[in-house]
Amino acid sequence: MRSAAEVRLGGAEDLHCAACGKEAQASSMDRYLWCEGCVADLRSSAIRVGWMAGGVAAAALAIWIVAVQQPSRMLAGGWVGVVIAAFWLVGRAGREVAQGVLRYRGRAR
Ligand SMILES: [Zn+2]
Repeated sequence: MRSAAEVRLGGAEDLHCAACGKEAQASSMDRYLWCEGCVADLRSSAIRVGWMAGGVAAAALAIWIVAVQQPSRMLAGGWVGVVIAAFWLVGRAGREVAQGVLRYRGRAR
């Protein structure tokens, strides 16, 4: 139950989470009306998917570099930097895409 004071202050209304359907306080939800638990799940799922995408992209890039570019010892360090940059960038981009997809599906996992 909520007190009259809370109702007057606003933000104490109970709403249903758009993802899991459980009741949660409106003040604890984000702008998509997802509860805290679902947002936390969404974040961790998206981060995991993002790093997986980054890992796959970096591995593919590394194979391409070794097979096609056949870098000399002198340039190997530069290529390692390129692979790390690709891993990081694709990881970040993959996280954003995964978050968007999961939001669209309305599921946190
Ligand atoms: Zn939820």
